[in-house]
Amino acid sequence: MTVSWTPHRFTGGILALDTANTVVLRNDPEKTFDRFDDPAEIARFAEAASGFRAAELGGRRLEAPEPRTIAPVVLSIREATDRLFRHAIAKGAIAAGHLPDFLMACAGGLSGSSTEIGAPGRPFGDPATPIAFEAALAVSALSLLRDDTVARLRICPNCSWLFIDRSRNSSRLWCDMAVCGNRQKANRYYRRRTAAREITNA
Ligand SMILES: [Zn+2]
Repeated sequence: MTVSWTPHRFTGGILALDTANTVVLRNDPEKTFDRFDDPAEIARFAEAASGFRAAELGGRRLEAPEPRTIAPVVLSIREATDRLFRHAIAKGAIAAGHLPDFLMACAGGLSGSSTEIGAPGRPFGDPATPIAFEAALAVSALSLLRDDTVARLRICPNCSWLFIDRSRNSSRLWCDMAVCGNRQKANRYYRRRTAAREITNA
């Protein structure tokens, strides 16, 4: 079954976090699954991310013409990103020991790329041509290392996704209020009703 790459699946707020979130429910070993199990989804994700992450990418489109070939490097960046930043959010600091794997994975995404990045207004290079998805993923992941970004990273208490909190007072709790916020509210309502019934029946 193909994945529908809806806006909800891009609530990470940064390409590298949206990619980390393609593994769903990392907090639940029974329910977790990987939306990139079919490598063809990497290309479809890249296509959708070109639109949802246009601001971050400076309008440069992502391309993944051979998703099967790049799958190992994409997954290695994704997993190293998740491990490093999930720990950093929980502990408030980056574990130095996570950096070698993370940097090696990012190097894998960038090696062989002949593109130029980081010019003013062109963070991911010239928007006239597309950029290889694995190279852009590495650039996005490396951008997370900035101090002011690390401080704004969060873990959704409902689905365990990583996201960046850009709210002015740093008070965003859910990856997506409309999905995880409401689900949690419904759970609380259900628990209250059940508790009330138990008291009545006692
Ligand atoms: Zn969530």
